[in-house]
Amino acid sequence: MATSTTQLEITKVSKSRINEVDWVNLPFGKVFSDHMLVMDYENETWAKPAIKPFENLSLTPATSVLHYGQTVFEGMKAYRNKEGEVSLFRAIENAKRFNQSAKRMCMPTIPTALFINYVKELVSLDRNWIPTEEGHSLYIRPFMIATDPYVGIRPSATYKFMIFTCPVGKYYSEPVSVKIETEYTRAAQGGTGYAKAGGNYASSLYPAKLAAEQGYQQLIWTDAKEHKYIEEAGTMNVIFQVGNKIITPKSSDTILDGITRKSVMEIAKDWGYETEERQISVAEIITAIKNNELKEAFGAGTAATIAPIKIISFEGVDYKIPNGKNDLFSAKVLNYLNEYKLGKVEDKYNWILKF
Ligand SMILES: *Cc1c(COP(=O)(O)O)cnc(C)c1O
Repeated sequence: MATSTTQLEITKVSKSRINEVDWVNLPFGKVFSDHMLVMDYENETWAKPAIKPFENLSLTPATSVLHYGQTVFEGMKAYRNKEGEVSLFRAIENAKRFNQSAKRMCMPTIPTALFINYVKELVSLDRNWIPTEEGHSLYIRPFMIATDPYVGIRPSATYKFMIFTCPVGKYYSEPVSVKIETEYTRAAQGGTGYAKAGGNYASSLYPAKLAAEQGYQQLIWTDAKEHKYIEEAGTMNVIFQVGNKIITPKSSDTILDGITRKSVMEIAKDWGYETEERQISVAEIITAIKNNELKEAFGAGTAATIAPIKIISFEGVDYKIPNGKNDLFSAKVLNYLNEYKLGKVEDKYNWILKF
């Protein structure tokens, strides 16, 4: 893959849109920074990397991604502290996962060093767009689409890789209510559940809408075969504290291998909690709730970081889950991760890329 950052062509906006932003009421994913990165794949190589003003794409209606969904993405965040230092959290993991997703969808990969360099170049240029308020950050969306002008099922020969960024506020402002889904399926063995592939999210919309009509903000998906085992929430992994144990379903080809989840489990172990990554049945969690052994439940993902759960619904019954206390593990780990990302605590795991 003969591409290097030295060839990166940068065209800056003539006038920044930054003064139009309402920084106090920052919605998630609706405000876009000045620039974007674009790179094309053709003749089996990546070419023409460029940073340019954020603008619309022009595509033929026959563009293959529009019909068959050959597309993958990543989600990561940049943080800026009071000293003006910018940091990325475990960016190499995002670069690697992007390539795993790409392989599953029969798409070309991007060298991880190049991926990270492009993220850095783009974020550096738009560094003033990184909010500094607590809990706010710059969400980074790298993605790739199949661009062959061809209506037929085959892997595209051409692709477009892009990155754009959004200054974002908090994803959830309070603990969430979730429903354990036992009818619909997000991912089955042998499928694409472990990939951040567009179609996975499209197919989860309808069951999520049904749950939203009943008052639940998220689903907890169960295994496709028996609907007995807990998988994840579809944009977040799920973690439980039962007694002194922090437990989470083991990652597999039906569960996205979340970086937040992985980090939380590592921290928990370091803090002296017993941790387990294994199959977790719904019955086990419901029993733990009934026996008052479930200390808490929360989602873990880049967008929300940590999303405490206040209600778990199963077979029509709403179970109340302890939440909102500062001495809960999730509150402590959220605080630690926030400080970690801003460089307020030592980077003991070597997770931070500062620039
Ligand atoms: C992105 C994502 C997550 C969370 O992963 P992070 O790396 O922590 O952001 C969890 N589940 C699904 C389905 C996802 O797409």
